[in-house]
Amino acid sequence: MQKGKIGVTTENIFPIIKKFLYSDHEIFLRELISNAVDATTKLKALSSMGEFGGELGDLTIRVELDEKGKKLTVSDRGVGMTEEEVNKYINQIAFSGAEEFMKKYENQSGIIGHFGLGFYSAFMVASKVEVITKSYREGAQAVKWACDGTPDFTLEPTDKAERGTDIVLYLAEDSAEFGEKTRIEALLKKYCSFLPVPIAFGKEQKWEDGKYVATDKDNIINDTHPLWMRKPTEITEDQYAEFYRKLYPMADEPLFHIHLNVDYPFNLTGILYFPKIKNNFEIQKNKIQLYSNQVYVTDSVEGIVPDFLTLLHGVIDSPDIPLNVSRSYLQSDSNVKKISGYITKKVADRLADLFKNGRPDYENKWDDLKLFIQYGIVSEEKFGERAGEFTLLKNTEGKYFTLDEYTEVVKGSQTDKNGKIVHLYSNDPVAQHSFIEAAHAKGYDVLVMDSPLEAHFIAFLENKHSDWRFTRVDADTVEKLIEKDEQLAMALTTAQQQLLTPVFESQLPTDAKSHFHVQFEAMDPAAAPIIITQGEFMRRMKDMSKVG
Ligand code: ADP
Ligand code: MG
Repeated sequence: MQKGKIGVTTENIFPIIKKFLYSDHEIFLRELISNAVDATTKLKALSSMGEFGGELGDLTIRVELDEKGKKLTVSDRGVGMTEEEVNKYINQIAFSGAEEFMKKYENQSGIIGHFGLGFYSAFMVASKVEVITKSYREGAQAVKWACDGTPDFTLEPTDKAERGTDIVLYLAEDSAEFGEKTRIEALLKKYCSFLPVPIAFGKEQKWEDGKYVATDKDNIINDTHPLWMRKPTEITEDQYAEFYRKLYPMADEPLFHIHLNVDYPFNLTGILYFPKIKNNFEIQKNKIQLYSNQVYVTDSVEGIVPDFLTLLHGVIDSPDIPLNVSRSYLQSDSNVKKISGYITKKVADRLADLFKNGRPDYENKWDDLKLFIQYGIVSEEKFGERAGEFTLLKNTEGKYFTLDEYTEVVKGSQTDKNGKIVHLYSNDPVAQHSFIEAAHAKGYDVLVMDSPLEAHFIAFLENKHSDWRFTRVDADTVEKLIEKDEQLAMALTTAQQQLLTPVFESQLPTDAKSHFHVQFEAMDPAAAPIIITQGEFMRRMKDMSKVG
């Protein structure tokens, strides 16, 4: 038997591990299982390269819980380790020393829960850990490593029939919760649902004679080929919908999805869903799950993707998103920034495409989409630049217009004396019904703008289009707008004057023509001898203003 000291400079790193990871002890299971997945993946790679000639056999990773004995075991049939490898990979912790570790991460509360310590995170929950391992190499001697949370370990030969590694945790008293089946089940579901190697937790149960009994079939807890890893062309709409229900069992059906797939300049796959966004959108944020090679990292993507994208649901998986780093590191990571930019662009592309190729459907969805798009427009410049392609305005009659289309509708009849196009809107069509009626009677159109972001959205539009103005339909200025409209009729362009002159002249007595000079600027409808009816006059003015 070999005895030795784990290669760290301080007496005992384990209290430090506990201290720094206290809020997220549960990640130990993710770390141990991802090591098991790594070991299995390595073996498969060796096999396909011809460096391992043996049978791969059943590669299922097994999680076993001894509830009474408070013992949890994770077993794999991966590459295993030789004694030398245990010395190298397990005993030589990657830290140059706990002191340095302290210095580096002190005062960074953000790291808690996002900084995994890999194998050593087992000591957050276990008072003793054993590694029983046998390398895939021919004739390898199995070894058993044991450590009780002091820097002292033991390493000795042992009997193990199968290739691979068993990690055995003797749960600490203060971690008794991890000795409960339901807790482990929940953790497996959270962290391991989509890992690429089958993971079994006990046996499948079946209902027999009024009670559940175990079958001899493994209870596989994960889906090794998650939908986002498959080709979009091979996926049906139903499968997308089903996957959504699996991720968010309580949510309404989404409006549509985007399948992300990029391999340059970074690797990323994923499926994003557009949920129907209600007015209380703050509580709907942060539903995207972030994965790194099918290993769950976090479902709090705030600060990682632009804020408006946190309203989307779904999965993003990128091996370029590091597993074990702090949030502040993620935020400044250049890959993560590129990923954000990419997703923003993809979302804009998809919206533009949906609008262009299915406008009626897009219009149907608009009321549920609007908040998301407005949020993107007002908060993310790059998105705002694109949004003109797929932003709609809706009027009180339920008609939808693009920004350009709407300008065409109102610019003739709703331009004020400063040449600004006046957008009348209502934020409460029911309460403002009479104002809307009055505006309609004057020939004006009224928009419905009733989302909680509308004020920001209006400010954005007014800022972008210096000749636009938004006026609420119940503002007293609407009356003024009408006055201005009349004044406007009197401030005619030369072309309009030329058109209008014969209209007036035709109405004058023949002998008066030579004496009468039409002075438009000074014209006062009340005083001038207008012979045509006022209605007819207004109609012609309107026609001409379109010409002008
Ligand atoms: P990381 O996984 O980031 O390398 P860990 O602390 O999780 O760091 O693991 C340290 C090393 O121990 C691994 O790189 C691997 O070489 C070895 N190891 C851990 N678990 C296993 C396992 N189940 N099978 C084979 N090797 C393992
Ligand atoms: Mg690891």
